[in-house]
Amino acid sequence: MRLIFLGPPGAGKGTQAKLLTERYGIPQLSTGDMLRAAVAQATDVGKRAKAVMDAGQLVSDEIVNEIVSDRIDQADCANGFILDGYPRTVPQAIALGKMLEGKGLKLDAVIELKVDETALVKRMENRVAETIAAGGSVRSDDNPEAFKRRLTEYREKTAPLSEHYAGTGQLRTVDGMADVNTVTAEIEKILA
Ligand code: AMP
Repeated sequence: MRLIFLGPPGAGKGTQAKLLTERYGIPQLSTGDMLRAAVAQATDVGKRAKAVMDAGQLVSDEIVNEIVSDRIDQADCANGFILDGYPRTVPQAIALGKMLEGKGLKLDAVIELKVDETALVKRMENRVAETIAAGGSVRSDDNPEAFKRRLTEYREKTAPLSEHYAGTGQLRTVDGMADVNTVTAEIEKILA
């Protein structure tokens, strides 16, 4: 099973991807997580990406395409994967299409979580509060200013992907405003 999750920051892509990971035994490939790991380890990629990420902007297509291509080649992706946060631009989607074709792989579905944007800032604030309460560390781009920038980046660069995948006949849309279990059930219906 090879899936893509689309939706603005805070739509619940990561939460749903994690749940499906357990159900289908395939890994969640979050480019955000991979980039944050690269920043934490101060790799070359991490050093190049840090300031861009902190500002809520997108890192270059070249960097993420390469990270994803390498990750997909790893053994745990043999039965599939869930892409969370990638592709994020139409050129990334085109690169992914070519990448998969080159590896002899096909996508099963592109699932878009539709959400009311006004609810997203509140969700981000809740995520921050929950993380702090659990003793965790807060993402450096989870602050109102960077979050607004991430939403703008989404509207300008990522939202056009819906049309791209509608055009290929792969887009399926789910109401991301419903509670977590309902959203999971809707996704499972699509995948059944
Ligand atoms: P996320 O965890 O998906 O919200 O991603 C956090 C940040 O990582 C984003 O705001 C971007 O700076 C960067 N990022 C993650 N995925 C991508 C991607 N596919 N293309 C470009 N930048 C990305």
